[in-house]
Amino acid sequence: MDISGIPAFSDNYIWCLEQDGRAVVVDPGDALPVLDHLAHRGATLAAIMITHHHGDHAGGIAGLVRRFDVPVFGPAAEDIAGVTVKVREGDTVRIPQIDAEFSVIEVPGHTLGHVAYYRPNHLFCGDTLFACGCGRLFEGTPAQMFASLARLAALPGDTRVFCAHEYTQSNIRFALAVEPDNRRLIDRASAVNALREAGLPSVPSSIETERQTNPFLRASEPAVRAAARAHGAGDSPVTVFAALREWKNRF
Ligand code: ZN
Ligand code: FE
Repeated sequence: MDISGIPAFSDNYIWCLEQDGRAVVVDPGDALPVLDHLAHRGATLAAIMITHHHGDHAGGIAGLVRRFDVPVFGPAAEDIAGVTVKVREGDTVRIPQIDAEFSVIEVPGHTLGHVAYYRPNHLFCGDTLFACGCGRLFEGTPAQMFASLARLAALPGDTRVFCAHEYTQSNIRFALAVEPDNRRLIDRASAVNALREAGLPSVPSSIETERQTNPFLRASEPAVRAAARAHGAGDSPVTVFAALREWKNRF
């Protein structure tokens, strides 16, 4: 299976999974770049998967289904125009055209109904887990997002993380403010800067890399706790997470 990130807007990636001329897109916020990509590849669309209701993820559905009559999978707990198959925790999304099955993981926090799609080695997590960061809490509580991120962090380390935005450099600047002495993080900063200077995406990342460098997955690390304490955190990991998220909002 071939996976490409179709750039959209200023910093979105619409992930396109393709096999034998059939394609599935995740979070098409805009139809046009997807149609261009499919035409260029000589591929036809087989399905659409949506992680949450924001326009930069779901805004392209109408323009795509006008052209391709395909199922649109999306979270049961959100009202999204164009979604035809509502999915919830534990459901399996089967897309025989690309020979793939995904399990649905509910990850409330950025929005309340947000879902992620997982198959071995692949996680499509929308705006929940970012490379070296996490989504803002528009609807959920810190406790909800903390639990959602913990579930994703518990996936196998070699799982590739296909998040929906190119936010990595600014996320790393914040992460370095939290953990200036984290060697893996310092190395990651140079690697990501080199990729971006070459005009290449910094994603997908991996769960293992995120565990080692993403401050939002590291609330139990002494250095992270100490830094968060200076920004209002209490003793529990959730308060550390909440303080980091608030700090990042103002960073
Ligand atoms: Zn969003
Ligand atoms: Fe987004």
